[in-house]
Amino acid sequence: MTSYKNLGLVNSRELFQKAMAGKYAIPAFNFNNMEQMQAIVQACVETKSPVILQVSSGARKYANQTLLRYMAQGAVEYAKELGVNVPIVLHLDHGDTFELCKSCIEYGFSSVMIDGSHLSYNDNVALTAKVVEYAHQYDVTVEGELGVLAGIEDDVVAEHHTYTEPSQVEDFMKKTGVDSLAISIGTSHGANKFKPEQCTRNADGILIPPPLRFDILKEIEQRIPGFPIVLHGSSSVPQDQVAIINKYGGAIKDAVGIPEEQLRQAAASAVCKINIDSDGRLAMTAAVREMFATKPAEFDPRKYLGPARDSLKALYKHKIENVLGSANRI
Ligand SMILES: [Zn+2]
Repeated sequence: MTSYKNLGLVNSRELFQKAMAGKYAIPAFNFNNMEQMQAIVQACVETKSPVILQVSSGARKYANQTLLRYMAQGAVEYAKELGVNVPIVLHLDHGDTFELCKSCIEYGFSSVMIDGSHLSYNDNVALTAKVVEYAHQYDVTVEGELGVLAGIEDDVVAEHHTYTEPSQVEDFMKKTGVDSLAISIGTSHGANKFKPEQCTRNADGILIPPPLRFDILKEIEQRIPGFPIVLHGSSSVPQDQVAIINKYGGAIKDAVGIPEEQLRQAAASAVCKINIDSDGRLAMTAAVREMFATKPAEFDPRKYLGPARDSLKALYKHKIENVLGSANRI
């Protein structure tokens, strides 16, 4: 058993309390390789932002869980070396079993998500409560989920939204003892968050997605005041990045995300954690495609992964400063 406390990591409890009081949200960025980790740490050091490093089950399969854990430990040391003591949470994204959550906690994670949203309500309560009971013995924080997001992200696939039912949240919180709750109010996993027929088009032909259900968020806030809410699937799918990808041989069609002003509005509410993954994938892909197309003689991976890392870092700094509001909060 390795306690996250010995690795220099923190759990999410105090970060969420401060985010709630300060009306901002903590960024939750997924990682599975070194360039992503460098971009995250550099962006958070330069903006003085706390951060949640997320590991999905897909990332565990891709990168190896031992490597990922040591990378997170390395991130703590790297931030210190850069001169800023960034509070870093190591979080399991979309844990699907008690055993996986337990294994991550024993491995040094400071926070886990148990996603029982695909189960019946009572089974979701039972599974989440079991994880909470185990995690709290080690002061590890737990995120649960009520409602189902549409879209695809690694192993998480759902065809349609099932919005969170506000009348269930208080009971769920009490019965499970969970520390934060992911809700479904119209965000969605992946880069194609909505079908074109669900959207309207503006004068330039750009797809405008249906607005988030702030009415549901408000009702949840009224039922459980001061309780930290989490938004998954909150990439904005910047159209300039999609255009670069497609200009240099990509084929990303009808990609549409959540407008940043809606995320800013959410960050100022009880939403304390906002997950952004697809935007980073787009930023890296755009940079790599541009390099391959404009400098075809290059074959040193540093020559294309370096620009991808720089582009990712610029994206993260933009999110921290202009969307989540977590800059200068450490
Ligand atoms: Zn998610």
